[in-house]
Amino acid sequence: MLTPDVPPPFPLSWGFSTRLDPPEALPPRRLNQVHRCGIVEASGALVEGDGSWTTSPGLRIGVRVADCVPVLLAGPLPDGRPWVAALHAGWRGATGHGDPGPGGGILRRGVARYLALGGTAENLVWAFGPAILACHFEVGEEVIAAARQDPAWQEGLRTRGPSGRSHLDLHGFLRAQALDLGLDPSREGSVALCTVCRPDLLYSYRRGETTGRQWGWIEIG
Ligand SMILES: [Zn+2]
Repeated sequence: MLTPDVPPPFPLSWGFSTRLDPPEALPPRRLNQVHRCGIVEASGALVEGDGSWTTSPGLRIGVRVADCVPVLLAGPLPDGRPWVAALHAGWRGATGHGDPGPGGGILRRGVARYLALGGTAENLVWAFGPAILACHFEVGEEVIAAARQDPAWQEGLRTRGPSGRSHLDLHGFLRAQALDLGLDPSREGSVALCTVCRPDLLYSYRRGETTGRQWGWIEIG
């Protein structure tokens, strides 16, 4: 288990699982993830969505990924209750591509949920977990075009790989959005490991593992 490298804002358990973690240490599956931007209040039931949030202590929520970015958020609400969220952000989720509702990609929509409950962006503690990083994330131009729709896009997030094709820095893209939303850079605890680079530790869909997944999960208390 890998733990975000930042102090939590209130007592919580959180982490990013690896292939070394036994299944019984992982959360129950409550999201049917579809690479869109739906975010639900966790209820314990299995529902379609790519993110969930809760204020309930003891309810472990999470997302399953194998190259996409697991995103964890934690912050206090004005009444003192803790609020946590787990989001699944591949390129489709991060850009909002294919889910053209208001609010942009799933990180923007997740932070918006917190703000709608009265939270203040700079109070959020945030972490991106292991994912396919720029070293291996070769993408088509349609992905870059989708990312360019986000107001926080910077051309430096796209590099050219050995083949001349584009590589996208998905962590960097999400970080640019986070800062644009007013999140505090000193409250980031991301774990920047590449799923393709680390077959000893992490599952990677692009490397050919179509069934194994790691979790990003969080639980108040
Ligand atoms: Zn890599």
